[in-house]
Amino acid sequence: MKIAILPGDGIGPEIVEQAVKVLNVLGESFEMETAPVGGAGYEASGHPLPEATLKLALEADAVLFGAVGDWKYDTLDRPLRPEQAILGLRKNLKLFANLRPAILYPELAGASTLKPEVVSGLDILIIRELTGDIYFGQPRGVRECPDGPFKGEREGFDTMRYAESEIRRIAHVAFQSAQKRSKRLTSVDKANVLETFQFWKDIVTDVHKEYPDVALDHMYVDNAAMQLVRAPKRFDVIVTGNMFGDILSDQASMLTGSIGMLPSASLDANNKGLYEPSHGSAPDIAGKNLANPLATILSAAMMLRYSLNKAEQADRIENAVKKVLAQGLRTADIYEEGTTKVGTGEMGQAVVNALS
Ligand code: NAD
Repeated sequence: MKIAILPGDGIGPEIVEQAVKVLNVLGESFEMETAPVGGAGYEASGHPLPEATLKLALEADAVLFGAVGDWKYDTLDRPLRPEQAILGLRKNLKLFANLRPAILYPELAGASTLKPEVVSGLDILIIRELTGDIYFGQPRGVRECPDGPFKGEREGFDTMRYAESEIRRIAHVAFQSAQKRSKRLTSVDKANVLETFQFWKDIVTDVHKEYPDVALDHMYVDNAAMQLVRAPKRFDVIVTGNMFGDILSDQASMLTGSIGMLPSASLDANNKGLYEPSHGSAPDIAGKNLANPLATILSAAMMLRYSLNKAEQADRIENAVKKVLAQGLRTADIYEEGTTKVGTGEMGQAVVNALS
């Protein structure tokens, strides 16, 4: 099995290094090949997604990705900015389903900004559609406002859109994920205001007919944002569009104490996927041995489970992570008094030790 390793920028290389260390002690014979992406891709060959990197990602059975981006690239033309590499990979690998679990390990209940009784035992899965919505709809741009009270002024505009088949396929992923968990699914929309999301709601309701064993409810995104803070354990699986999913999944991440704990998977129709931590490249702490590598290590576990058909190895990694947390080891982002502060490399090594 071939894994494309794309460390990227900022803390990307240091956290991916830890995940590779973990994969190497599993006793499997993975072929791992590394390639530059994001700012590193731009430095290496003038493009954030170099051709050779894309070729490797297409050939591989799965992609393990760190993070991309640095403020020093903010002045580049948009198509050359590091973040474009993610969009290019999603498009070329036809990734449409972003799975983001938010789990609160009991040992970290105190790291959440919410009261322990509200969040302890939290285990939700947010499924974000990745290909449609206002992020990709055309037309978009800045133009002269054609009508209304601001006619003649400059205005920025984007187009929100979803095709029926796009909604159907993500709804199937969501219902099937709910079937494997507690059989409860919440579809989040803004059907009271947006035509696109009334259509979303209608299609999800139609797909529900094929999954009578799953209890479906619909919730407006503003209420969902509120409920995620008020009573997050009322949710099990949440499915939503690209923009709402982007925002709600970051919000959910903070329920768990740190974005440094959250893995993610982006899957195509055949469960080939790109696996990455939910956070970005954190340039503020890059190279300082401060980054939490657990989100990336847990992303590698998701890769084993979803793309490489190695659920037992995924369980081994997840149990090793639980073990190091129970031992009281913490990177700075999840540190509390009474625990032991460790750096990126030490945390990775502790997971390796727990595995062996
Ligand atoms: P960020 O997620 O990189 O950082 C937000 C905050 O969380 C920072 O304080 C950072 O230090 C902290 N943090 C993030 N990951 C951490 C970890 N593993 N351990 C400890 N602390 C961690 O978001 P940002 O600062 O808004 O963006 C920085 C860069 O990352 C930008 O260039 C942005 O475009 C890019 N970005 C990339 C991705 C991606 O590669 N998928 C996602 C989001 C942002």
